[in-house]
Amino acid sequence: MFTKKKPTIAVLTSGGDAPGMNAAIRAVVRSAIAREMKIFGVYHGYNGLIDGKFEEMQLRSVSDIMQKGGTMLYTARCPEFCTQEGIDKAVKMCYRYGIDGVVTIGGDGTFRGAGELSAAGVPCVGIPCTIDNDIACSEYTIGYDTAMNTAMRMVDNIRDTVQSHDRCNIVEVMGRHAGWLALNTGISCGASVVLVPEIEYDFDRDIHSKITSTFGTGKHHFIIVAAEGVGGLDEIAKQIIDKTGMEVRTTVLGHIQRGGSPTVQDRVYATEMGYRAVELLSEGKGNRVVAIKDGKMVDYDLNEALAMKKPFDYELFEIAHAVSI
Ligand code: ADP
Repeated sequence: MFTKKKPTIAVLTSGGDAPGMNAAIRAVVRSAIAREMKIFGVYHGYNGLIDGKFEEMQLRSVSDIMQKGGTMLYTARCPEFCTQEGIDKAVKMCYRYGIDGVVTIGGDGTFRGAGELSAAGVPCVGIPCTIDNDIACSEYTIGYDTAMNTAMRMVDNIRDTVQSHDRCNIVEVMGRHAGWLALNTGISCGASVVLVPEIEYDFDRDIHSKITSTFGTGKHHFIIVAAEGVGGLDEIAKQIIDKTGMEVRTTVLGHIQRGGSPTVQDRVYATEMGYRAVELLSEGKGNRVVAIKDGKMVDYDLNEALAMKKPFDYELFEIAHAVSI
């Protein structure tokens, strides 16, 4: 437990933005105030921690942000924070503002920074927030559900035109090095093929023969959903054109997946995680990350969390292919 009369904490968002970050900020600010803590919002991620871009938050500072994508605190990548000098500057700034703990909302990189800051004497608690769902310790990350729903709607739109023209469209969705977004988008849109970086594909076996057999059943349009980590989509398109004569388009959904109003699931998880992060700091627990395991809220040591590996859902991948005939 903090021994100071009025404990002071800070909250920041860092790395890639994700829908639900605002809901998490709101929960952190309101939970802190409910516990009679002083709470600072830090602008522009770790840059703000180094440069002292702090603003004391009040209950009404976070009104009307729950439904908005992006982050009211802005986010950034901060190479200086990867240096000892940068960490030292941030620690000094935290001491100047009397910060007893920091809630860091972001992805793996953000958590590595939080681990460094905790080791340097400022306890941090991380909240997993990325559309990629690529944080090993948590089966769910804030922003993932919204991004999946956005990608699904976009591919549904593409399907209309693909079907009308008897075309093939290869749709690239985000996910960095992970295929979660692609797999779930692919299933929910009835894609004929899903390509993910976790599983190597063979053009003849997984794409060409699938197109041929699909044609044989009377269907003349074809959607491939590929994770950005797969790469080489233009080459795949060229091979399809060369071998089948089909008209092929490629569509990169890009940052459209990062924005938008968060879904119920993202808002609820963000609220729960924000509340739990403040609770941990108030219990004097730092160097932790909040996570979801078996549908329940848990927390892990940050270093242990960063060392974990997330097994891909191979069974779901098999199901995707079993039904896309
Ligand atoms: P994400 O949090 O979405 O994974 P990044 O990987 O870009 O995004 O990381 C966000 C920020 O976290 C970086 O710009 C940097 O400031 C900080 N960070 C990343 N790795 C480290 C590290 N090893 N040590 C200290 N800070 C780090």
